[in-house]
Amino acid sequence: MQEIKDNIIAISRHISDICVKKGKDPDNITVIAVTKTVDTDRINYAINNGIRNIGENKVQEIMAKYEKIEKNVNWHLIGHLQTNKVKYIIDKVALIHSVDSIGLAEEISKRAGKAGIQKDVLMQVNVAQEETKFGIEYEEIDSFAEQLSRFPGIRVKGLMTIAPYYEDTEQARPVFRRLKEKYDTLAAAGIPNVEMKYLSMGMTNDYVIAIEEGSNMVRIGTGIFGARNYDLL
Ligand SMILES: *Cc1c(COP(=O)(O)O)cnc(C)c1O
Repeated sequence: MQEIKDNIIAISRHISDICVKKGKDPDNITVIAVTKTVDTDRINYAINNGIRNIGENKVQEIMAKYEKIEKNVNWHLIGHLQTNKVKYIIDKVALIHSVDSIGLAEEISKRAGKAGIQKDVLMQVNVAQEETKFGIEYEEIDSFAEQLSRFPGIRVKGLMTIAPYYEDTEQARPVFRRLKEKYDTLAAAGIPNVEMKYLSMGMTNDYVIAIEEGSNMVRIGTGIFGARNYDLL
Protein backbone atom coordinates (compact mmCIF):
# COMPACT_ATOMS: atom_id res chain seq x y z
CA MET A 1 0.00 0.00 0.00
CA GLN A 2 3.03 2.24 0.37
CA GLU A 3 2.72 3.21 -3.30
CA ILE A 4 -0.65 4.83 -2.59
CA LYS A 5 0.99 7.09 -0.04
CA ASP A 6 3.86 7.85 -2.43
CA ASN A 7 1.38 8.72 -5.18
CA ILE A 8 -0.58 11.04 -2.90
CA ILE A 9 2.61 12.88 -1.93
CA ALA A 10 3.83 13.07 -5.54
CA ILE A 11 0.51 14.45 -6.80
CA SER A 12 0.34 17.02 -4.05
CA ARG A 13 3.90 18.18 -4.88
CA HIS A 14 3.05 18.26 -8.53
CA ILE A 15 -0.01 20.41 -7.88
CA SER A 16 2.04 22.77 -5.71
CA ASP A 17 4.56 23.14 -8.54
CA ILE A 18 1.89 23.99 -11.09
CA CYS A 19 0.33 26.48 -8.70
CA VAL A 20 3.63 28.19 -7.99
CA LYS A 21 4.27 28.44 -11.71
CA LYS A 22 0.81 29.84 -12.40
CA GLY A 23 0.56 32.06 -9.31
CA LYS A 24 -2.29 30.06 -7.78
CA ASP A 25 -2.83 28.93 -4.20
CA PRO A 26 -2.50 25.13 -3.95
CA ASP A 27 -4.85 25.16 -0.97
CA ASN A 28 -7.64 26.11 -3.36
CA ILE A 29 -7.28 22.89 -5.34
CA THR A 30 -9.36 19.97 -4.07
CA VAL A 31 -8.07 16.51 -4.90
CA ILE A 32 -10.78 13.87 -5.12
CA ALA A 33 -9.39 10.36 -4.91
CA VAL A 34 -11.54 8.31 -7.28
CA THR A 35 -12.15 5.02 -5.50
CA LYS A 36 -14.24 3.00 -7.97
CA THR A 37 -13.14 -0.67 -7.89
CA VAL A 38 -10.80 0.11 -4.97
CA ASP A 39 -11.36 -1.96 -1.84
CA THR A 40 -12.20 -0.31 1.46
CA ASP A 41 -8.85 -1.10 3.13
CA ARG A 42 -6.99 0.76 0.43
CA ILE A 43 -9.45 3.65 0.55
CA ASN A 44 -9.05 3.95 4.32
CA TYR A 45 -5.29 3.83 3.91
CA ALA A 46 -5.53 6.79 1.50
CA ILE A 47 -7.73 8.65 3.97
CA ASN A 48 -5.19 8.02 6.72
CA ASN A 49 -2.57 9.49 4.43
CA GLY A 50 -4.26 12.80 3.79
CA ILE A 51 -7.14 12.19 1.39
CA ARG A 52 -10.23 14.16 2.45
CA ASN A 53 -12.44 13.68 -0.61
CA ILE A 54 -13.36 10.47 -2.38
CA GLY A 55 -15.33 10.00 -5.59
CA GLU A 56 -17.44 7.11 -6.78
CA ASN A 57 -19.37 6.80 -10.02
CA LYS A 58 -21.93 4.22 -8.95
CA VAL A 59 -24.59 4.46 -6.27
CA GLN A 60 -24.37 0.73 -5.65
CA GLU A 61 -20.68 0.96 -4.86
CA ILE A 62 -21.22 3.82 -2.41
CA MET A 63 -23.85 1.76 -0.61
CA ALA A 64 -21.58 -1.30 -0.44
CA LYS A 65 -18.63 0.65 0.97
CA TYR A 66 -20.22 3.40 3.01
CA GLU A 67 -20.21 1.87 6.48
CA LYS A 68 -16.65 0.59 6.16
CA ILE A 69 -15.09 3.93 5.28
CA GLU A 70 -13.58 6.36 7.78
CA LYS A 71 -16.00 9.13 8.66
CA ASN A 72 -13.67 12.10 8.24
CA VAL A 73 -14.10 12.24 4.47
CA ASN A 74 -16.43 13.86 1.91
CA TRP A 75 -18.07 11.59 -0.65
CA HIS A 76 -18.58 12.78 -4.22
CA LEU A 77 -20.92 11.22 -6.76
CA ILE A 78 -19.05 11.74 -10.03
CA GLY A 79 -20.88 9.34 -12.35
CA HIS A 80 -24.25 9.30 -14.04
CA LEU A 81 -27.08 9.33 -11.51
CA GLN A 82 -30.43 7.71 -12.19
CA THR A 83 -33.43 9.51 -10.75
CA ASN A 84 -34.67 6.42 -8.91
CA LYS A 85 -31.37 6.10 -7.01
CA VAL A 86 -31.18 9.63 -5.62
CA LYS A 87 -32.88 8.57 -2.40
CA TYR A 88 -30.05 6.22 -1.50
CA ILE A 89 -27.25 8.76 -1.58
CA ILE A 90 -28.93 12.06 -0.72
CA ASP A 91 -27.69 11.91 2.90
CA LYS A 92 -24.30 10.40 2.02
CA VAL A 93 -22.61 12.52 -0.62
CA ALA A 94 -21.37 16.06 -0.11
CA LEU A 95 -21.46 16.99 -3.78
CA ILE A 96 -23.19 15.55 -6.84
CA HIS A 97 -21.09 16.33 -9.94
CA SER A 98 -23.38 14.89 -12.56
CA VAL A 99 -26.60 16.89 -12.73
CA ASP A 100 -27.56 16.96 -16.39
CA SER A 101 -31.36 16.98 -16.53
CA ILE A 102 -34.23 18.90 -15.00
CA GLY A 103 -35.85 15.66 -13.90
CA LEU A 104 -32.79 14.67 -11.92
CA ALA A 105 -32.50 18.13 -10.36
CA GLU A 106 -36.15 18.01 -9.39
CA GLU A 107 -35.74 14.64 -7.67
CA ILE A 108 -32.60 15.76 -5.81
CA SER A 109 -34.41 18.88 -4.65
CA LYS A 110 -37.42 16.88 -3.50
CA ARG A 111 -35.34 14.31 -1.60
CA ALA A 112 -33.16 16.99 -0.04
CA GLY A 113 -36.29 18.83 1.08
CA LYS A 114 -37.59 15.69 2.76
CA ALA A 115 -34.26 15.25 4.53
CA GLY A 116 -34.35 18.88 5.64
CA ILE A 117 -31.18 19.80 3.77
CA GLN A 118 -30.01 21.51 0.60
CA LYS A 119 -27.76 19.53 -1.69
CA ASP A 120 -24.73 20.99 -3.41
CA VAL A 121 -24.52 20.03 -7.08
CA LEU A 122 -22.48 20.70 -10.20
CA MET A 123 -23.83 20.87 -13.73
CA GLN A 124 -22.12 18.27 -15.90
CA VAL A 125 -21.27 19.62 -19.33
CA ASN A 126 -20.38 17.54 -22.38
CA VAL A 127 -18.07 20.20 -23.79
CA ALA A 128 -16.65 18.08 -26.60
CA GLN A 129 -20.10 16.72 -27.56
CA GLU A 130 -19.05 13.09 -27.27
CA GLU A 131 -21.92 10.73 -27.91
CA THR A 132 -20.70 8.30 -25.29
CA LYS A 133 -20.71 10.87 -22.50
CA PHE A 134 -23.43 12.31 -20.32
CA GLY A 135 -23.85 16.01 -19.67
CA ILE A 136 -25.73 18.97 -21.06
CA GLU A 137 -24.49 20.75 -24.13
CA TYR A 138 -22.34 23.80 -23.80
CA GLU A 139 -24.97 26.02 -25.41
CA GLU A 140 -27.54 24.91 -22.83
CA ILE A 141 -25.56 25.87 -19.73
CA ASP A 142 -27.11 29.31 -19.17
CA SER A 143 -30.72 28.25 -19.48
CA PHE A 144 -30.05 25.11 -17.44
CA ALA A 145 -28.55 27.23 -14.66
CA GLU A 146 -31.61 29.51 -14.71
CA GLN A 147 -33.89 26.51 -14.39
CA LEU A 148 -31.91 24.89 -11.56
CA SER A 149 -31.93 28.17 -9.72
CA ARG A 150 -35.63 27.63 -8.93
CA PHE A 151 -35.26 24.35 -7.04
CA PRO A 152 -35.25 25.04 -3.29
CA GLY A 153 -33.47 21.82 -2.32
CA ILE A 154 -30.35 22.27 -4.42
CA ARG A 155 -27.55 24.78 -4.58
CA VAL A 156 -25.55 24.94 -7.77
CA LYS A 157 -21.86 25.17 -6.91
CA GLY A 158 -20.18 24.98 -10.27
CA LEU A 159 -19.44 22.96 -13.39
CA MET A 160 -17.98 19.56 -14.18
CA THR A 161 -16.68 18.01 -17.36
CA ILE A 162 -14.86 14.90 -18.53
CA ALA A 163 -12.54 15.72 -21.41
CA PRO A 164 -12.20 13.20 -24.22
CA TYR A 165 -9.27 10.83 -23.84
CA TYR A 166 -6.38 12.15 -25.88
CA GLU A 167 -3.03 10.46 -26.31
CA ASP A 168 -1.60 13.97 -26.51
CA THR A 169 -3.17 15.61 -23.47
CA GLU A 170 -2.50 19.09 -24.84
CA GLN A 171 -5.56 18.50 -26.99
CA ALA A 172 -7.72 18.66 -23.88
CA ARG A 173 -6.63 22.25 -23.21
CA PRO A 174 -9.25 23.99 -25.41
CA VAL A 175 -11.98 21.88 -23.78
CA PHE A 176 -10.95 23.02 -20.30
CA ARG A 177 -10.44 26.60 -21.42
CA ARG A 178 -13.90 26.77 -22.92
CA LEU A 179 -15.56 25.57 -19.73
CA LYS A 180 -13.54 28.02 -17.62
CA GLU A 181 -14.84 30.86 -19.79
CA LYS A 182 -18.39 29.81 -19.09
CA TYR A 183 -17.59 29.38 -15.39
CA ASP A 184 -16.37 32.98 -15.26
CA THR A 185 -19.37 34.42 -17.09
CA LEU A 186 -21.77 32.48 -14.89
CA ALA A 187 -19.93 33.65 -11.78
CA ALA A 188 -20.49 37.22 -12.92
CA ALA A 189 -24.12 36.62 -13.91
CA GLY A 190 -25.30 36.48 -10.30
CA ILE A 191 -28.13 33.98 -10.80
CA PRO A 192 -29.82 33.31 -7.44
CA ASN A 193 -28.72 30.01 -5.90
CA VAL A 194 -26.10 29.52 -8.61
CA GLU A 195 -22.57 30.05 -7.37
CA MET A 196 -19.36 29.22 -9.21
CA LYS A 197 -17.21 27.75 -6.45
CA TYR A 198 -16.00 24.49 -7.99
CA LEU A 199 -14.75 23.75 -11.47
CA SER A 200 -14.41 19.97 -11.50
CA MET A 201 -12.17 18.95 -14.38
CA GLY A 202 -9.01 16.93 -14.80
CA MET A 203 -8.22 13.24 -14.25
CA THR A 204 -4.99 11.26 -13.97
CA ASN A 205 -3.85 11.87 -17.52
CA ASP A 206 -4.90 15.52 -17.89
CA TYR A 207 -5.14 17.12 -14.44
CA VAL A 208 -2.03 19.24 -14.93
CA ILE A 209 -3.52 20.91 -17.99
CA ALA A 210 -6.90 21.22 -16.29
CA ILE A 211 -5.37 23.10 -13.34
CA GLU A 212 -3.37 25.33 -15.67
CA GLU A 213 -6.67 26.22 -17.33
CA GLY A 214 -8.46 27.01 -14.08
CA SER A 215 -9.74 23.77 -12.58
CA ASN A 216 -9.93 23.80 -8.78
CA MET A 217 -11.20 20.24 -8.31
CA VAL A 218 -9.44 17.27 -9.87
CA ARG A 219 -10.65 13.65 -9.86
CA ILE A 220 -7.75 11.23 -9.74
CA GLY A 221 -8.12 7.46 -9.69
CA THR A 222 -5.34 5.43 -11.26
CA GLY A 223 -2.79 8.12 -10.44
CA ILE A 224 -3.38 7.34 -6.75
CA PHE A 225 -4.47 3.71 -6.61
CA GLY A 226 -2.88 2.24 -9.74
CA ALA A 227 -4.68 0.40 -12.52
CA ARG A 228 -8.27 -0.59 -11.82
CA ASN A 229 -9.23 -4.24 -11.64
CA TYR A 230 -12.90 -4.51 -12.57
CA ASP A 231 -12.87 -8.27 -11.91
CA LEU A 232 -12.81 -7.65 -8.18
CA LEU A 233 -16.33 -6.25 -8.21
C1 LIG B 1 -12.94 7.03 -13.18
C2 LIG B 1 -13.20 8.47 -13.20
C3 LIG B 1 -12.18 9.41 -12.93
C4 LIG B 1 -10.75 9.02 -12.62
O1 LIG B 1 -10.10 8.50 -13.74
P1 LIG B 1 -8.52 8.21 -13.71
O2 LIG B 1 -8.14 8.25 -15.13
O3 LIG B 1 -8.35 6.87 -13.09
O4 LIG B 1 -7.89 9.28 -12.90
C5 LIG B 1 -12.50 10.75 -12.94
N1 LIG B 1 -13.75 11.18 -13.21
C6 LIG B 1 -14.76 10.33 -13.47
C7 LIG B 1 -16.12 10.87 -13.75
C8 LIG B 1 -14.53 8.96 -13.46
O5 LIG B 1 -15.53 8.11 -13.74
